[in-house]
Amino acid sequence: MNETLDQGGASPLPGPHPTKGRKAFGNHETPSGEGDALPSRADPGSGAQRPFGLWRGGPEGQRPSGIARRALLAAPAVLLVRPARALDLPAAGLAQGGFVQGRAAPGTRLALDGRVVRVAADGAFAFGFGRDHAAASTLAVTHPGERREERRLAVARRQWSEQRISGLPPAQVTPDAETLARILRERERLATARATDSALAGFAGGFVAPASGRISGVFGSRRILNGQPRQPHYGLDFAVPTGTPLKAAAAGRVTLAASFHFFGDLVVIDHGHGVNTLYAHLSRIEVAEGQMVGRGDRIALSGATGRVTGPHLHFSLSWYQVWLDPQPVVLPA
Ligand SMILES: [Zn+2]
Repeated sequence: MNETLDQGGASPLPGPHPTKGRKAFGNHETPSGEGDALPSRADPGSGAQRPFGLWRGGPEGQRPSGIARRALLAAPAVLLVRPARALDLPAAGLAQGGFVQGRAAPGTRLALDGRVVRVAADGAFAFGFGRDHAAASTLAVTHPGERREERRLAVARRQWSEQRISGLPPAQVTPDAETLARILRERERLATARATDSALAGFAGGFVAPASGRISGVFGSRRILNGQPRQPHYGLDFAVPTGTPLKAAAAGRVTLAASFHFFGDLVVIDHGHGVNTLYAHLSRIEVAEGQMVGRGDRIALSGATGRVTGPHLHFSLSWYQVWLDPQPVVLPA
């Protein structure tokens, strides 16, 4: 028995989607809520409808600078040597819920739909697209030397499953005022932790799965609780027994180690550049806020704290407030 109510249905917000679809294969989880704080409002470009398109150089893209023109006169071969890979942007994450890790020439500046994307000294960067992101985004690239271009990124649409849970106690679907106040305070704390904008580079060093076990809940599934639409599931659930050691998915700094209503005992780790992971329903937290951890380090034991009906790990990945699908990142096919 491992049903969970971890995120609880506490969200007074109705789910944004119609209630048709398939049943999720895991129903381990939660009625909604917690993980779902600020779901799509923070999605860059989520409201915009743009035509599909692949990356296209901007109007300045083909034009050599004055220096380059002079170089051409002096040494014709120079112009044939284009910068090797001015921007390395794998196509893998260009989808709803997708996590994109790329590399640019050092000194490149990036903005995704007007939002600055932090670029490390060595050129590493990361960003992501929310579950309900529009069909395209625009990445503004300012290359070293100030040449600018805009790249149109096509964001592949995904299908999300549906999870229906009925027969829940009404208080778990619609919490009382006191519980709701606590939930909102905790949501704020979590949002603050996830807003951390550090120069840490853990995100660029690769990810490992925080646990091994059956996947009992997937990212993005719609939640219908006692017939009421609630916010989607924004994590990946590992069905592991209480007391299972859990690993930090990547290197970083612990920004939150606390006990929440829905998530129970939880840990949030900042991996730099707005990339965070979250571990919930823990039976024991073995790290402290501010502590640095390495990829794969043991950070906690799994459990069934918070609003759950059985032990499991709820694991989330986000770019600032944008929840992303952790599965392709920590369990690549
Ligand atoms: Zn979950």
